[in-house]
Amino acid sequence: GLRISAVSKSYGAVEVLHDVSLDVRPGSFVTLLGPSGSGKSTLLMCIAGFEAVGRGDITLDGASILELPPERRDFGMVFQGYALFPHLSVAENVAFPLSIRGMGRAERERRVADALAMVRLEGLSSRLPRQLSGGQQQRVALARAIVFSPRLLLLDEPLSALDRGLRAEMQEELKRLHGELGLSFIYVTHDQEEALFLSDQVAILNHGRIQQIGPPEALYARPVNQFVAGFLGRSN
Ligand code: ATP
Ligand code: MG
Repeated sequence: GLRISAVSKSYGAVEVLHDVSLDVRPGSFVTLLGPSGSGKSTLLMCIAGFEAVGRGDITLDGASILELPPERRDFGMVFQGYALFPHLSVAENVAFPLSIRGMGRAERERRVADALAMVRLEGLSSRLPRQLSGGQQQRVALARAIVFSPRLLLLDEPLSALDRGLRAEMQEELKRLHGELGLSFIYVTHDQEEALFLSDQVAILNHGRIQQIGPPEALYARPVNQFVAGFLGRSN
């Protein structure tokens, strides 16, 4: 599995992650939950390799990944916002990670078709992103993140732009996808209901520190401090 050991990270003189440690067991759904500015995206960027860590280590199956560039970590990533290429079709967007890996056309087409089927977008492969609904665009981003058979999936508030009904539907889809893929998901949200519904483990962050880690039921039943109790008790 993935292990984050005592990671700290500063931007200039400001430390935004303090001594963060987290174990992600193979196949588990782990959520980073916390208020805006608590360091959730920064931690995800450190795992993905787009930001360097200051201190500490991140290992996968015992080997440090800190020296690997993002593309060699083989992690699927869905960013905050969809970040689809507006001038590329659905199929071309999904094929992008395969093209940059130099995969041949036949294999590419097979994998794109499989990934689009996984997210239930068969039939829309020649559309442009602007010809899709928000939920459909989100599915394209998911397909693009799983198409190269990543070792794990990092998702940064993938549903935050969707309305309530669509969000509930996509939460079900994510749960199904997690079950079918058998991959570890590291998921970022500031929505505690979403975290409760989706996760095996929730890590609660505040001001760059992990406050508590556990299964959602345990956090509700036994919050370790006032921040956790208050944050979980609040409605969005
Ligand atoms: P949100 O829920 O709003 O997305 P977050 O928990 O993802 O918040 P981060 O984006 O990780 O928070 O930011 C953590 C802190 O680091 C914030 O104080 C933010 O202003 C700061 N920060 C983030 N990126 C940078 C950067 N590139 N340079 C300087 N400071 C940054
Ligand atoms: Mg963020």
